[in-house]
Order: sequence, then structure tokens, then C-alpha cells
Amino acid sequence: MSGQAKDHVDFAYELDLVIKPDSTVPLLGREFNYYVGSGVPLFSIGGGYFRHALQQILVGFHARRGYFIAETPIIASSELFKLSGHMEFYRSNMFVFDIEDKEYVIKPMNCPFHLLIFLSHIARYRGKVRLPFKVFEIGRVHRYEPSGSLYGLLRVRGFTQDDAHIIAPESEALNVVFNVFEEMVQLLEGVFNLKVSSENIYVRLSVSDRSLIGREFMGTIEEWEAAERALEEAVKAIEGKYGVSRVTGVGEAAFYGPKIDVMMVVKGEATVKEWQMGTIQFDFNLPRRFRIYDVVKEVYGETGVFVIHRALLGSIERFLGGYLELSKGRLPVHLAPLQIAVIAIKTGEEPVDKDIEFKAVELKDKLVERGFRVGVKETTKTSIGGDVRHIESTVKPPILVFIGEKEVKEGVLSLSVYTKGGRVRRQVQARTVAEAVREIEGVVLEEEKRVYEISGVNPRIPADLSHVL
Ligand code: ZN
Repeated sequence: MSGQAKDHVDFAYELDLVIKPDSTVPLLGREFNYYVGSGVPLFSIGGGYFRHALQQILVGFHARRGYFIAETPIIASSELFKLSGHMEFYRSNMFVFDIEDKEYVIKPMNCPFHLLIFLSHIARYRGKVRLPFKVFEIGRVHRYEPSGSLYGLLRVRGFTQDDAHIIAPESEALNVVFNVFEEMVQLLEGVFNLKVSSENIYVRLSVSDRSLIGREFMGTIEEWEAAERALEEAVKAIEGKYGVSRVTGVGEAAFYGPKIDVMMVVKGEATVKEWQMGTIQFDFNLPRRFRIYDVVKEVYGETGVFVIHRALLGSIERFLGGYLELSKGRLPVHLAPLQIAVIAIKTGEEPVDKDIEFKAVELKDKLVERGFRVGVKETTKTSIGGDVRHIESTVKPPILVFIGEKEVKEGVLSLSVYTKGGRVRRQVQARTVAEAVREIEGVVLEEEKRVYEISGVNPRIPADLSHVL
């Protein structure tokens, strides 16, 4: 992508701009950046629907898998980040400011809050809190990056993690790591239609250099050995089940613990790009600073306990940047900003035309009532080809509904549904608008079936978006 990649995600051509590197950024885009500031992505109307639909799915997905759902503040007292060590070691990447003689920070990470939540839960409920304890948040963090290094949605100053922290006994570590990987697969396949295979996914395992433990790598030899053994065994199980390969980086672990990163390989026409997705990281530093080991020992009598950071998508912004590029802006029906375009085809004959227009608008209204994002486009038999091409190159709604003279007269509905393989045309009987709504809802539900199975959610955010067509 060129330096014109942008951090303002909106509808239509704006969504398209993210995937078309040589498009000229329109004046509006530049104004947005000027007023909003650089490196802080703004999800406008189109991006906003995507975000909210995805957030509903993510919350349902994690809640079903035993994660508690949290929401922690963007601004916090610097005391918390002194406790975590960030003020000492990470300050140059943080936004720090004073108000009424007190020092505050904009959180660069969610972890300290999640550990506080764990501790306060333990304090209140003691041994009734079961381990592994898992807390999830759609957490927006801000980190200072020099302006020269900012790049579209891929390198930003503000981003949102699908972030969770897991506090697990050592005996559960292998299961936790393997389950997190499985969750990632379910999410990528079920929600984003991305098939996980050895072709496009590999795992990067970053372990310590044993000779440097105690110096460059903090924690004890026993901790590193146990964590790396769990990761190694989990990676073996992942390799066995999914056929994905692995790269091991000795000495590449973070100073606070070993980790695995899941990498996606995106093959373009002439390029091969690597796209970092989820991560699972062990941490031997924060539990010491937050005295998690002492508390767990006192309450549970457990000595070996791990604190694990994990994200399935990583940064939602960076994931979206890569996903838009990969999918060429073609989003599945549950995530598409505009889900259904009703195309009213006029022939120029008065009574029939009125009927078509009426039916199209009535259908759109009823679909919006049912919770869908819909627009109506009026066209004629001569301009329909151009109009559909325009819609397909801009807003890319997964479902097109055609209403013309023939459809109204014969009580049928012509649908064009975008599925993984491309567009599929189909005709269904629909003598009334109510019947048409039922048929279209059935098509959406068919597409969303897997999303519902894994998250218990069919996100509904109703909107009349006719103006973007
Ligand atoms: Zn964390």
C-alpha cells in the first residue's frame, strides 16, 4: 500500500481506498486526518457498523467460552502503571499528563486492569472463584508511535485489542493454550470465512535462550521450563490437528515470558505478505508485581500458576486492514456495512413503475424493521448494468434483490447472493412483501448459521442506507 493508506474507515469508496493503494485520497479524507489527528483510526458510518457487529459477535463468542466480560477505562491514574512497571520501562510509548496535580496515563495495555479485577474478585469471593480465571475485553489502547512510522490501519497510535487474560494452574496450561488456538480457528473460519490450513497459517514459537534466564529473561528456570513445555506440547497438538507448520525462535521470547504468535500468509498476485494475528504469551513479570502468586497460594494452595495474555485477532484495526485487502472489501453478510441492496428496475410505464417503486421502498422499510442494513437503488433497464457494476465496486452488499415488472407481475423475487465462491442467482416465490421479507431473512440466516452456532449472536443493527447507493 502507498503512504496514502488511511486511518479513517468509512463506507463505499473509503472502504475501497484501503484496498486500492493508488486511489487518490479525496479531500474529505484529508480533512478527517487533519481534524482527528494522525494514527487514531476513526470508524465512520460504514466502519462503525462493521465494528459494532463484530463486537457483538466477539462478546457472545467469549461469554460462551467462560470468559468474564470487562470494560476498563481509557484513562487511569499513573499509580496503576507504576505498579505494573510500565511507567518505568514503557513510558516513552505512553501518553502521560497531569490534571489537578495528579498524574494520569492513557492506557497502553489492558493487562493491569484485568489483574486488578482478578484480585478484587478473589478478595471478595475467595476460593469460590474458579481457576482458570478468564477475563475478556474489547480494549482500546493508545501508544505513542513517531508520526513517521504511522501507516494506515496497519500502524497506528490508537487501536483495539480483542484482549483476554487467563490465570491458570500449571496443570491446565497446555489445555488453555490449545483451546485458545481452537478459539482462533473457530473465529477465523466461522466469522471471517478464512480457512485455516498449512497453506496460509503458521505458528511462531518464541522461547528463551536458557543461558540468559535470570539476566535477560526474568523469572525462574522452572517457570520457563514448565511454560515452554506446555507451549511446545500445545504446538505439537496444533500441528497434528491442523497441519500448520511452526517456526521456533530461540532467544526470541519477550523478557517476561515465552509466546506463540499466529501468522497468516497472504499470497497476492506478485507478493507474499505475512499478517500477524493472534498471540498467546506467558508472563512471569506482572504476577510478581501484582502479587498474584502469593494470593493464589494463600487462597488455593496452588504454587504453579500462570498468567497468560492472549488475543485472537490482535488489533482489530490491523486485522481489518489486512482482511479488507485479502477479501477485496467483500465482507460476509453479518459484517457488511450494507447487507442488502434492493434494486428497483423501472421501465418507464407509469402504473407499473409506481408499483415497483412502492414495493421496493416497502420491502426496504420492512427489512430495516427486521434489523437489517438496507438501501434502495432505482434504476432502469438500460442503466442497470452500470449501476450494479458501481455497487459491486463500492459498497459490495452481499445480497442484491431485483424488483422489476416481471417480478411484481409473477410474484417472484430475483436474488443474487454473494457466498464464498462468488455470486449465485436464485429466484424465490414471494407474492407479498411479507413473504419477500421472510425469504430474504431466510437467506441471511443461512449465511449467518455458523456465526450463530459459535457466538449465539446474530448481530442486528438496523439502518436505511439508501443514500450510499
Ligand atoms: Zn496483556
